[in-house]
Amino acid sequence: MTESPREPSIFSRIIAREIPATIVHETDTVIAFEDVAPQAPVHILVVPKTARYATVVELAAGDPALLAELIDTAGRIAADRADGSFRLVFNTGEGAGQTVFHVHAHVLAGSLEEGSLAH
Ligand code: 5GP
Repeated sequence: MTESPREPSIFSRIIAREIPATIVHETDTVIAFEDVAPQAPVHILVVPKTARYATVVELAAGDPALLAELIDTAGRIAADRADGSFRLVFNTGEGAGQTVFHVHAHVLAGSLEEGSLAH
């Protein structure tokens, strides 16, 4: 389902603790939690707390340091929860399967099947 951009995203509601999630990492600017429908043995979503950026392209243009922090966080999660190897997926746009328009990275690791993607 695609969300209305005017309503708080499901991820903003997780950040506000309005709905539960299994949070694995949190700083003042970034939160990471388990995907509710995992596509790999390790499937963590890494999300900036600001809801200002809908896509990774907007984030890269608007706050490249925050994008770098997301990627650094992804690397740490893969090192902690797998062997350090990981796939990083940013579904970008409805046509690519993006359903939550609050930018997020999928960190996929652990015995990935050849060719598997987040969707
Ligand atoms: P997208 O399709 O936008 O790239 O990714 C959205 C992801 O958010 C999906 O993989 C979906 O499983 C996950 N997701 C959707 N709703 C929730 C939720 O309420 N909690 C958690 N933990 N993940 C969610």
